[in-house]
Amino acid sequence: MKKRLTVKERIRITKRGIGVLKQYCPGLAEGKAVSAGLAAVQPLVSVWLSAKIINELAGERRMKQLLFFVAAVVLTNFFVLLVKSIVDRVTEEKEAQMWNFFGKVFADKAMTMDYADLEDAKILQQKQAASENLFMFGNGLGQLVWGLNSLVNAAANIVLSLSLTITLFLSDTGSKVMDSPLWILGIGLCVVLGGLANSKATREENAIFEKWCNSTVWFNRAFIFFGHVLSMNPDRAKDVRIYKQNSAADRAFQKMKERDKEAGAYVLRMAAYPTLAAVVVGMGNVVCWVFVVLKACMGAFGVGSIVQYIGALGKLGTGVQDMMFVLADNEVYCGHLQGLFDYLDIPNHKYEGTLPVEKRAFCDGGDTEYEIEFCNVSFRYPGAEDYALHNLSLKFKIGERLAVVGKNGSGKTTFIKLLCRLYDPMEGEIRLNGVDIRKYDYDEYLSIFSVVFQDFKLFSFSLGQNVATAMEYDREKAEQCLRKAGLSERLKTMPNGVDTPLYKDFETEGVEISGGEAQKVALARALYKDAPFIVLDEPTAALDPIAEAEIYTKFNELVGEKTSIYISHRLSSCKFCDEIAVFDNGAVVQRGCHEDLMREKDGLYYELWTAQARYYEKVV
Ligand code: ADP
Repeated sequence: MKKRLTVKERIRITKRGIGVLKQYCPGLAEGKAVSAGLAAVQPLVSVWLSAKIINELAGERRMKQLLFFVAAVVLTNFFVLLVKSIVDRVTEEKEAQMWNFFGKVFADKAMTMDYADLEDAKILQQKQAASENLFMFGNGLGQLVWGLNSLVNAAANIVLSLSLTITLFLSDTGSKVMDSPLWILGIGLCVVLGGLANSKATREENAIFEKWCNSTVWFNRAFIFFGHVLSMNPDRAKDVRIYKQNSAADRAFQKMKERDKEAGAYVLRMAAYPTLAAVVVGMGNVVCWVFVVLKACMGAFGVGSIVQYIGALGKLGTGVQDMMFVLADNEVYCGHLQGLFDYLDIPNHKYEGTLPVEKRAFCDGGDTEYEIEFCNVSFRYPGAEDYALHNLSLKFKIGERLAVVGKNGSGKTTFIKLLCRLYDPMEGEIRLNGVDIRKYDYDEYLSIFSVVFQDFKLFSFSLGQNVATAMEYDREKAEQCLRKAGLSERLKTMPNGVDTPLYKDFETEGVEISGGEAQKVALARALYKDAPFIVLDEPTAALDPIAEAEIYTKFNELVGEKTSIYISHRLSSCKFCDEIAVFDNGAVVQRGCHEDLMREKDGLYYELWTAQARYYEKVV
């Protein structure tokens, strides 16, 4: 069972929640507070002035006084409503936007967290629970926004209505019983009991609701997947149609419908508690009414004051009930906020390094002594039983062209992921110029790599923005990189050149490109970054044979002086590399140039080469 949060913890969590609101939605909390305060002021000021008018009418009927009170009611109402409606408009706008900014809270975390954590099932579950709670039910930050509104409104109601009730207890009827100070206690008790009943009802209602929310996590996920991703995502539509996956979606929807029936029982249980609370509040109201009317009948105050006291006591009651509701609710949303903060506080080990990476001039005859070394590196993916890399040792220097070959699953891509610090080794060390790469500033370290991953992704920005990965960029350089990557002809047919948007997510005139063209854009992106290390993981897998041959023949021109690591299972394409490392079962089993490796007739390279050559001979 979850531990109950202490008051101190709740204050700390609420303060941090307000901090998050201020950072991501500035002005929203303040707007809500001002609006809630004004909402409390307006009816109570009206009640107070109306009581004055009625008392004047029932008494001396002085025209000047009457006019003054009427003008005061009209003007205060006018100004309060005017200011409130302006504040409300601005705040509503911010509230409508807040969900996008809450999305940014998660996006910021995802962008900076360790890549390995993105795949960790436990962390994924933690994130999923926090985001579903927030976006489906408003739990946590959403409740905080609404809770702040209720808190200010309740506090203002309590303070203002108390100040309008004081004279109720000070006025004399001449009767010892009616003027007894015990009435303060009695009326106070009625108000507090009403509040307690409501607070208990809220707590019970919330507990039932939370149980319901937790039990629906799978269904919500299924709903999003089947209702949105599977049915509406064009990327999946081909497979869905061909393999008739809509029957799987229908089954999930059916299961969800059955779930809906269970919701009825939950709703009934939730409704029972507020009903009981309403009975307690109603009984308290009867006592207040009887007390006020009796005192008025006994001449303690005029008729107008009945309006004031009944109105103020009513508001005091709702103020106290709301305050208790707010406090009960605060415990619930602090629990959800804690869940969110636990996720946001997952430490980023990647950013612990501080060493700057020495910037060296590659093209201007600068010192080119960069050396990368894998020393007995072993790595297992989170949750996996087998090692993807085992005791791997490999060294390469700047300017070298290293080809990495091997069967599927031999660890080639994992080797690149570790090199780029997407994961850290479990054993052993990767060193840059003799220093463990974990000691370097992460962003600086990443800046020395241009990588084209096998499963690269382009984005729905313009072609040029995709190449430069920036909104503002050097157009000429982007065009040059696209041409180098073999996209000259396609670029000519793009309606707005490098300004042409890719894909149709945001722009109706967005252009769809083929897998091969996308791979060329990804290559151009790597060239634009112009980093000293260029890593290409199967960079020609989606290209046609002519485009592939074109890339190979100008590979030297493409990578220039850069150190390049080239992964391919098309062995003939590795011949131009200075060195070839042959991977098998997560380790380097052979190393050397093509000719040397071909001489080792019982080696894996020879086996792979001859298998491929035989296939090509047969085909040709
Ligand atoms: P290659 O690039 O040589 O085809 P990989 O480096 O992709 O091989 O994979 C090496 C091993 O690690 C394989 O057994 C593969 O199944 C496993 N593997 C790869 N990625 C993951 C992952 N994200 N989680 C768990 N295991 C993985």
